[in-house]
Amino acid sequence: MYSEHAQWTPQYTVERVMREHIETIECVQARSACELQSFTQNDSGVAVTLVDLRTGLTSEVETQYIVGCDGASSVVRDLIGSRLEGAFGLSRNYNVVFRAPGLAAAHSHGQAIMYWQINGEVPSHIGPMDAGDLWFFMPTGLAPDVKVTKENAGDLIRRATGIDLPFEVISVDEWTAHRAVADKYRAQRVFLAGDACHLHPPYGGFGMNMGIADAVDLGWKLAAVLRGWGGAALLQSYELERRPVHMHVLKEASQNHSKVGAALFECGLEDESEDGELVRNRVGQRINAEKLSEFYTLGTILGDRYLDSPVVQKLLDRDAPPRDFLNYIPSSMPGARAPHAWLHDGSSLFDHFGRGFTLLVRPAEDHGDIDAAVLHAERQGVPFSVLRLDNPAVNCLYEHRLTLIRPDQHIAWVGNKWPKSSELDVFAMVTGRSSRINVRVPNSEESIHE
Ligand SMILES: Cc1cc2nc3c(=O)[nH]c(=O)nc-3n(C[C@H](O)[C@H](O)[C@H](O)COP(=O)(O)OP(=O)(O)OC[C@H]3O[C@@H](n4cnc5c(N)ncnc54)[C@H](O)[C@@H]3O)c2cc1C
Repeated sequence: MYSEHAQWTPQYTVERVMREHIETIECVQARSACELQSFTQNDSGVAVTLVDLRTGLTSEVETQYIVGCDGASSVVRDLIGSRLEGAFGLSRNYNVVFRAPGLAAAHSHGQAIMYWQINGEVPSHIGPMDAGDLWFFMPTGLAPDVKVTKENAGDLIRRATGIDLPFEVISVDEWTAHRAVADKYRAQRVFLAGDACHLHPPYGGFGMNMGIADAVDLGWKLAAVLRGWGGAALLQSYELERRPVHMHVLKEASQNHSKVGAALFECGLEDESEDGELVRNRVGQRINAEKLSEFYTLGTILGDRYLDSPVVQKLLDRDAPPRDFLNYIPSSMPGARAPHAWLHDGSSLFDHFGRGFTLLVRPAEDHGDIDAAVLHAERQGVPFSVLRLDNPAVNCLYEHRLTLIRPDQHIAWVGNKWPKSSELDVFAMVTGRSSRINVRVPNSEESIHE
């Protein structure tokens, strides 16, 4: 289904890994304690005013584009006149990070990434931050007048866990859950991505994943335009592709958020009696049924597809497979994520895709049309590679003889024969230099392009 498992990693580790990688990229300059204050833009570029927070000095940077990845209170969003629309203040929460040597061994529940403490007094989530003694604690459903502080957090953790250890509280952050999305993702040369663009409750763990996927979608498109092979429709497609994904995930996350600690509690849950046992069984069944979509999310995470994108071929005679949070149904329809397979040398199919567009050709026999595809790519300056595979599993996953895969591993076009450029200029369509053409592509080896 995929080449890499999901990882449970604290954000400070993800950021360290990304920072270390950024430092190896020559053309990237990373600045900390540096704030974007304002910008002006015209047809040829953007002039950005930055302030160094240590010295208070301002400086100007001239650039072609900016992407506002500046989080929930995005300044860039305000400056382009975009507004978050949705429901605000869904719940008030705290994130407490604390050190607790011995906590992992002080309970009998075994190792987990997160423990849900369902009780009438301090419903909460708790779990290890990493392999050391650092933990997080998140009380849920607090009364409006309750304030969690560094002073009272240790006591709350003791009441929630029933475990008395010397908890060292390191930080207490208050955060509020919202469900909202920006009413526009772009103003000319300025884009929004990540939490600057969409906010939802963190139940399901979709937020950072979705922000990274925004960057994956937008990154190659900006590169294409800057290098001269991407057209205007490519940048327009960013919002058209990502907004439906955001709306879908916002719905899933909000549903998950409606069933947290306090909502799952029933009186008598902790009674040492037969009745208590019955309540525990009933609550257990409810948890299994109602929380499934929060913890089994492969369909939500891998099932996103860009069916109505102007730079993706539209198949007239195919319905997209249903979206199911639990079951990710790989599909080779244009717009879908390219299905994954392991090859017989143990490598991942994805590692054989090029850094630009990849034409996956199956079976290995040559119809002579691939040379034309190579020529079309060369003429238009599109980075392109051909991957010929005759692997039965890959043949099953990819319905058509030819599948054109974008740099972000979504499928752009399928067919059984590479069309003559007088019939259809595939590269012009998928790189946003001409409008989309709707086609019917048969299952069989005959080729029909309308
Ligand atoms: C309790 C909780 C649990 C979560 N769990 C998960 C999870 O399990 N999985 C998951 O995928 N997501 C999770 N998330 C969501 C995830 O944390 C966010 O979606 C993610 O951090 C958003 O990344 P971002 O880069 O868009 O914004 P941020 O992480 O908010 O980063 C924005 C950055 O921009 C900087 N900035 C702001 N203004 C300016 C300016 N004017 N100039 C320069 N810099 C500026 C900020 O200082 C900050 O460093 C969780 C969130 C919460 C609250």
